[in-house]
Amino acid sequence: MKPLQSAPKPELSGRRTADRARREPFLDPYQARRKLKGSTVCPKCGAVYHRGRWQWGQRPDDARAEPCPACRRIADSLPAGTVTLHGAFAQQHKDEIIGLARHEEAAEKGEHPLNRIMGIADTPEGLVIDTTDIHLPRRLGEAVKRAFHGKLAMHFDDAGYFVRVDWRAPG
Ligand SMILES: [Zn+2]
Repeated sequence: MKPLQSAPKPELSGRRTADRARREPFLDPYQARRKLKGSTVCPKCGAVYHRGRWQWGQRPDDARAEPCPACRRIADSLPAGTVTLHGAFAQQHKDEIIGLARHEEAAEKGEHPLNRIMGIADTPEGLVIDTTDIHLPRRLGEAVKRAFHGKLAMHFDDAGYFVRVDWRAPG
């Protein structure tokens, strides 16, 4: 007997919630703690908070020093997202996958300073990539899927402001 397929595909529902979260960035507790007044520069990564958002660029003369949300997450070891690449295939293609992930991260981070890879670890579950934001995991998962096919599942935890992406090799 085939299982019922009434539930929405995790990938699609994840996309909807991630899109909603993107429109409502204040949901991120690390961003929402308080609004910064004036210009701020992160002493760790050099990102500049200016005109209401974190960006790369020239440090304004009057900037105060305060860690950015991404560096605070890194210091707290509290990722906003995680990508788990399951199975032996991911192990065998680890270097390629990490290279791909770093390439995607560089492109994402160039535009969005707070979207970064926090760490990459070999675990019993698979190759796990932690990120400082909820958008990069989907980008990483989709890049791996484009390169190697396989199955992608995404789960967004509204309450915890956390996204989990799981990739499994084809077959
Ligand atoms: Zn920073």
